[in-house]
Amino acid sequence: MYDAVIYRFIIGGVLIMKLTTLTIVVPCYNEAEVLPTSAATLRRILQNMIDIQQVSQKSKILFVNDGSRDKTWSLIQQLERDNALFTGLKFSRNFGHQNALMAGMKVAGKYSDCVITIDADLQDDENLIPKMVASYQGGNEVVLGVRNDRSSDSHFKRWTAEAFYGLMGKMGVQLVPDHADFRLLGRRAIDVLMEYQETNLFLRGIVPQLGFNTEKLYYQRKPRLAGETKYPLKKMLSFAFDGITSFSIAPVKAIMSLGILVIGISLIMVIYAIVRFFTGNVISGWTSLMISLWFLGGIQLVGISVIGEYIGKIYAEVKHRPRYIIEQDDYTPTQQTAQLN
Ligand code: UDP
Ligand code: MG
Repeated sequence: MYDAVIYRFIIGGVLIMKLTTLTIVVPCYNEAEVLPTSAATLRRILQNMIDIQQVSQKSKILFVNDGSRDKTWSLIQQLERDNALFTGLKFSRNFGHQNALMAGMKVAGKYSDCVITIDADLQDDENLIPKMVASYQGGNEVVLGVRNDRSSDSHFKRWTAEAFYGLMGKMGVQLVPDHADFRLLGRRAIDVLMEYQETNLFLRGIVPQLGFNTEKLYYQRKPRLAGETKYPLKKMLSFAFDGITSFSIAPVKAIMSLGILVIGISLIMVIYAIVRFFTGNVISGWTSLMISLWFLGGIQLVGISVIGEYIGKIYAEVKHRPRYIIEQDDYTPTQQTAQLN
């Protein structure tokens, strides 16, 4: 049985409990600088939860190495040797944050009742983890970590994030503002999530579509422990653009309206030119001509590229390529399947 969280049967006076098995999934891309500290913090939290019997001893911390080029993977392996709570998954190359999360949830979901995803730099509040599990045990299948204060982020990041959520809302994409990828999903939610086969993954858009009992827990986001962001501006913009084009065709519609507007303006110009022609003062020079030519040319190029983006997405989807390739999986144990249930 997966769904019930704690079973308490009193058989002949003996209390038998089935504890929740939790896996904390941590995507890592060149995180050697922060990994030892984050691992120690997460271990302390999880060990404490095991000690107070909030979660079972089979609970784990799973690091997904997303093709790091630094010492991240050897550090993960070292952690595995040092403590049985740690385990690792290695991608054959970099497949991106969202895919690392998907892979972690898929692998961990097979052996856990619930999975929490958290970034390796521990910008998200790790102290929320026990509260998330408590919420799950209270009957919530989805628990979202939401930042109530972004003061640790730069002004620029805050401003772009605000613009992004505003834009997404206008385009009809349901997002939970200030919720990133720090969340708990129960096994049923994960099973459903795995049915979403799209190559262009945008978890923040998909998770609210899953439904289930959902709770939001608020926390303060901290600055990065060390190292630098793996989401520089270019990657952030492409992530936002991906999010929009994966969920909405509003940009294509906007191009259409713009096109109609431009045609309208040019019609007015034509009328104006005709009037000038008949009143005897023909417009001389080529300025007006060049401006409209370049303007229209620009609009057409933008229009084509937006449509191209969608066609590119369709192309990527129809190929059905794997979203990620796992080179090594230290989590999936041969005997553990038998131990569970
Ligand atoms: N990450 C990843 N693959 C990538 C980029 C990032 O697995 O290609 C991981 C990264 O190691 C971190 C998380 O995604 O655990 C979020 O990245 P980061 O903290 O750099 O983003 P920010 O908090 O600046 O948005
Ligand atoms: Mg971060």
